[in-house]
Amino acid sequence: MQTSVTTTDLARLRALPKAEVHLHLEGCFEAAVLAQWAALEGRTLPRPVETLFQFSGLADFLEFLDLACGLASTPQRLAEHCYSLCQRLAADGTGYADVIVNPTHWHAWQGRLPQMLEAMDAGLRAAEQDGLPPVGLCISLLRTQSAQAATELVELLSALKHPRVVALSVDGNEATAGRTGPRFAEAFKRAANAGLRRTVHAGESSGPEGVWDAVNLLGADRIDHGVRAIEDPALVALLAEKQIPLGICPSSNRVLGVYPSIEAHPVERLRLAGVAVSVNTDDPALLGASLVGEYALCQSAFAWTDDTLKAVARTSITASFANADIQRALLQDLAAWATGAGD
Ligand SMILES: [Zn+2]
Repeated sequence: MQTSVTTTDLARLRALPKAEVHLHLEGCFEAAVLAQWAALEGRTLPRPVETLFQFSGLADFLEFLDLACGLASTPQRLAEHCYSLCQRLAADGTGYADVIVNPTHWHAWQGRLPQMLEAMDAGLRAAEQDGLPPVGLCISLLRTQSAQAATELVELLSALKHPRVVALSVDGNEATAGRTGPRFAEAFKRAANAGLRRTVHAGESSGPEGVWDAVNLLGADRIDHGVRAIEDPALVALLAEKQIPLGICPSSNRVLGVYPSIEAHPVERLRLAGVAVSVNTDDPALLGASLVGEYALCQSAFAWTDDTLKAVARTSITASFANADIQRALLQDLAAWATGAGD
């Protein structure tokens, strides 16, 4: 059942009060800015600016990620990158975002996490002062890291207690890393003891077993993706019963081949089964996605009504790691949108 989404619909979706909970700082580079940084460094980009994000495959994509993060080598550039991320959020009408940062990608900052956090915080603070949306950082382990490296990162985060850091995360390819839940259980336990929330990539490059481990071994407050839980009815029932939210990225799953089309995507079946789902962009610049576009895609493919849009937006807010004041304000705005103020 497909319905068309008009320009008026897009304006309403932009006005819909919402949060984004599955978004990577590494996936938000602007092509023009990268070209400018590369020129300053005397580096050559692999393609012209216009086609910079047209990747030939996963290897090309990962190589590019290293290059892009490597160019953000000064505090000023990293702050500028974070500021522009907030402009991107504002353009989608996003009221708050949990942003995942994986320190292993940022080669210029290896061994200097406190300085890296300060540089990112400076850009995010400047953005907030200019009225742009607030952001919390989810500091991410890479799936291939060792148990020792994972606990060292958590110990460092516990000692720093940086107010910008809201959660521990783990991302990376589970298809190549294999089962890693047991390896990271200790780090996630320590993160919980240190007052950090926990979000886990699973059920995308892993099947339902990755989601089971995220829940049972890592104590995940939220699952990034989690869509392949649909393959296990007992798991779907558990996610619905415990209301463990999924940060779902429909376009990312389609572009990266997890599902061939939006119609084949399980977001609607999970939602109808009572699972708490939100929609998100994952790596918006690199995938050519926007948050308004993700809502529009689902509205069109699944004939989402205003009530459904509101329920998904509500989940995005309550599933976020925003503080109580931010959540309350966004939920109030959402109620106003519901009574027609957003029309
Ligand atoms: Zn992701």
